[in-house]
Amino acid sequence: MVQHRRPAQALPLPERDRRAVWHPYAPPEADPLFAVESAEGVRLRLTDGRELIDGMSSWWAVIHGYRHPHIEASVRAQLERLPHVMFGGLTHEPAVALCERLLALSPAGLERVFLSDSGSVAVEIAIKLALQYWQARGATRRRRLLTVRGGYHGDTFAAMSVCDPETGMHHLFRGALAEQVFAERPACRFEEPCEPRHTRDLESKLEAHAGSLAAVILEPIVQGAGGMWFYSPGYLKRVRELCDEHDVLLIHDEIATGFGRTGRLFASEHADVAPDVLCLGKALTGGVMTLAATLASERICRAIADSSAGALMHGPTFMGNALACSAALASLDLLEREPWQERVSRIEAQLVRELAPCAELPAVADVRVLGAIGVVELHDPVDMKAIQPAFVDAGVWIRPFGRLVYTMPPYVIEGEDLARVTGAMRDVISRLA
Ligand SMILES: *Cc1c(COP(=O)(O)O)cnc(C)c1O
Repeated sequence: MVQHRRPAQALPLPERDRRAVWHPYAPPEADPLFAVESAEGVRLRLTDGRELIDGMSSWWAVIHGYRHPHIEASVRAQLERLPHVMFGGLTHEPAVALCERLLALSPAGLERVFLSDSGSVAVEIAIKLALQYWQARGATRRRRLLTVRGGYHGDTFAAMSVCDPETGMHHLFRGALAEQVFAERPACRFEEPCEPRHTRDLESKLEAHAGSLAAVILEPIVQGAGGMWFYSPGYLKRVRELCDEHDVLLIHDEIATGFGRTGRLFASEHADVAPDVLCLGKALTGGVMTLAATLASERICRAIADSSAGALMHGPTFMGNALACSAALASLDLLEREPWQERVSRIEAQLVRELAPCAELPAVADVRVLGAIGVVELHDPVDMKAIQPAFVDAGVWIRPFGRLVYTMPPYVIEGEDLARVTGAMRDVISRLA
């Protein structure tokens, strides 16, 4: 007979959690762990009554702050009409309106949108699109992907295969992961020109492998979870030229950078280039619901439609979830009607000013800021058990990883609150040995 453990309701929430729940990239008994009661604007309220200013936007997503009334009203209205319906053979206004608006906002040449549930899945779909495109053209040898080191594209298997081999821990899954082609990380910083030496490795790998490559995939301008690195728009421009020269598709993963984070609506606008496939997620719904999108160019859509397969072979159960689409539509309304560019450039200026002193600290290797993203890179990895409670005691939510202490706050954060975030970063880092 199965013995069912009764939940120990009398225990504090983190204790109950430790007995039953997995957390991301954490051991079975996650520690430290803080329980959130509610959230409003840029503040998280813990169950013990403490309030934290959120410096993470719940991993890039909550760009308008928590519980924005416009997004809530949109989701509530949709809930009363149609929360969800299967997307096979059926359609609905929020999904169609969202795809239309994404196409209108995104770089030129993208013609059609495939909706899915999460960023990793959007990347899987991008890869499938590329493989099916070459199948349709009879180039069945073109099955591999080229990417740059230092990238992050998600945790499912095809996405994982193009993450940085070291930070993506490829050795754990060797044999089960597709082997892709890796070029050096773009070494030219955002504010530097891209010189021929910076793309030499990429060029030689493209030349060597072009006949077997389906696509190049990379995060434009900002490499996120693979290292929080900002690189030169000139590099991104050169990648587009090289893909055209070698007739290889180009996939931009803007799951982290999309919707204004770098100061432009899409990071590729810094280089004025457009991809053949674009992945969106994270901030798409303003952080309220899980939703992602993969946008494809006309030549890809046409080739797949005319192929023997005749269709893109993918179809998630919750595809086009109407609640998620209604949240995304409301988030796009806010981006259209609110001065997010001004807010992001104000945040950028303040981050530059207030994080600069970190560069003098002995533990610090580099400080960099782009748009509403501020990064302090340390010489050594942080001790999460010590640093996480230190940030909570300082009244802010900052979640470092490895050697990186960074913030990407909601765009609506006030100057005073941002000063508390940057002040806590300086204080906590200055106390590191
Ligand atoms: C977060 C992220 C993903 C994966 O998205 P999930 O929603 O976590 O699956 C993919 N690419 C980039 C650039 C990301 O930042």
